[in-house]
Amino acid sequence: MKVSILTLFPEIMEGYFCSSIMAKAVDRGLFSYRLINFREFATDKHRTCDDAPYGGGAGMVLKPEPLAKALEFVGTGGKRVVFPSPSGRLFRQSMAEEFSREEELVIICGRYEGLDQRIIDSYVDDEVCVGDYVLSSGEVAAMVIIDAVYRLREGIISAESLEEESFSDGLLEYPHYTRPEIFDGEKVPEILLSGHHEKIHEWRTRQRLEKTLANRPELLKNRNLDDGEKRILKELTRKQGNQGGENP
Ligand code: SAH
Repeated sequence: MKVSILTLFPEIMEGYFCSSIMAKAVDRGLFSYRLINFREFATDKHRTCDDAPYGGGAGMVLKPEPLAKALEFVGTGGKRVVFPSPSGRLFRQSMAEEFSREEELVIICGRYEGLDQRIIDSYVDDEVCVGDYVLSSGEVAAMVIIDAVYRLREGIISAESLEEESFSDGLLEYPHYTRPEIFDGEKVPEILLSGHHEKIHEWRTRQRLEKTLANRPELLKNRNLDDGEKRILKELTRKQGNQGGENP
């Protein structure tokens, strides 16, 4: 997979591509990236990339010409062009999966108030919001998108790890423990030391349901629960109901 990123501040992202699992993916040729500073495509003496908005209002807007030239340089034919923006569709695991099936992505990092709308109209396939909050830069959002996407490509991390993750099957993940067995007086749950795989699985399922019910109950609506899960969920909601009764 290849990703071209158009940015005014490539240095924000450089360290990301040179570290950890991403660096290994790049080394092994499983992922490649190109950081393009579109300021280099501005033609005036000061290489201006922003200007005041037509119609008035606060802030500056990214000018269309340098971005259009940078996009022509990259070549957008057959490539999915993504613009991280608070006005976009909400980024979810399902969208990350969709993007991971592309061979090439182009990402435009916004700044200031955003891009001239004509760039969006002419070049952008997906406007993507990474969460209901406003960041000051598209670079941070682009890294969120890239990070969620590239790790789904084959050979980057184990298929088994992906299967058991939060969101992959509509439930949040169970808690993890590693050595030492006792830390700060707190012991690892006994069941995890038992070697009893079936019971461990049931305990983890219970934990996942409990966490999802507490933090993201809306996720449960989209999941087909099996009989065991239904039974656990019933118990948990009953317990919750009882606790609610005690603390009106
Ligand atoms: N005026 C805009 C905010 C611009 S923030 C508005 O009110 O909607 C500057 C840039 O940061 C944006 O162009 C976008 O690229 C990026 N950005 C900020 N918040 C984001 C979010 N939640 N998701 C994706 N990108 C975001």
